[in-house]
Amino acid sequence: MTNQRTAEHFKGCILGGAIGDALGAPIEFMSIDQIRSEFGEMGLTDYSEAYGRNGAITDDTQMTLFTAEGLILSKVRQEYERDKGVISAGYHALLRWLYTQEINLQDNLIRNHGTCSIVDGVLTGHKELFSSRAPGNSCLSPLKSGKISTIGDPINNSKGCGGVMRMAPVGLAYDDPDKAFHFGCKLAALTHGHPTGYLAAGTFAALTSLIISGNSLTEAIEGSTLILKADKNHEETLRAIGDAVDIVGKEIPEPEVIEKIGAGWIAEEALAISFYCSLVADDDFKKGVLLSVNHSGDSDSTGSITGNILGALYGIDIFPENWLSELELKELIEEVADDLYDQFG
Ligand SMILES: [Mg+2]
Repeated sequence: MTNQRTAEHFKGCILGGAIGDALGAPIEFMSIDQIRSEFGEMGLTDYSEAYGRNGAITDDTQMTLFTAEGLILSKVRQEYERDKGVISAGYHALLRWLYTQEINLQDNLIRNHGTCSIVDGVLTGHKELFSSRAPGNSCLSPLKSGKISTIGDPINNSKGCGGVMRMAPVGLAYDDPDKAFHFGCKLAALTHGHPTGYLAAGTFAALTSLIISGNSLTEAIEGSTLILKADKNHEETLRAIGDAVDIVGKEIPEPEVIEKIGAGWIAEEALAISFYCSLVADDDFKKGVLLSVNHSGDSDSTGSITGNILGALYGIDIFPENWLSELELKELIEEVADDLYDQFG
């Protein structure tokens, strides 16, 4: 077991997620038949234009960056071990993301939460982030409500994948997988009130923590599902993961197999698809992320989570050169990953 708490693996995780997100962006709302008729029998094999460019990131990467910024600020303030400090920092980071998405709410956000909370960190200084990239309503509407949603007092019953897809930084920050799970669940519950919505997120944070501590993917899946099992509401997420892991090696990996696992719009399916694609990819990043985006479901989110996992496992050297060089906001994404490493590595 080699320790992977290095700047290269932190960057690998965050950049890998952004690359998977960018690959999925142009085909998020396309069926596999539409994807094949546009890109050929193999489906999408390289970046294609979305939001006016190749390599465009979407809400998944935006929210991952804001989650990382919340954690960085909680560490700077020495509040990263306390529920109150982490949730408050994570909540205000998400409000800053909301500030980039809803121009007409900006004055209200500053009035209700104060200039310091809303104009904090570095991300709101980047005008490229003030761009709507198909954000999920289950992320936007709880943040717009002005109420802080929690596990004990949820604002909705959503189990969309918007909690799990932004949770990799939590696993990088906490080297104790139980803590990663704990904070992953709490931070996801800010937007997703259904137990599966936040438990899948906690499981992904624990998995990332175990990988970055040097465990193999198989060991990290075993370890994170063991933590998940301790929660009374674990069945749905555990079953989805178990079913996906079971078909590894039994079928040829292709879109129709992914679609047996699900479409990925909901949390447990997004996580299970990403576990499957990462397991069959081994160290072949290209194979894993292309498999994770070529299906009729939520391609950018499954691409993002799979990219996070493979990048955490293997670092930045496994990315095809043009996927890294053409990635939107590459320097900013690297800077955030470096800052997270400086604080937590
Ligand atoms: Mg997206």
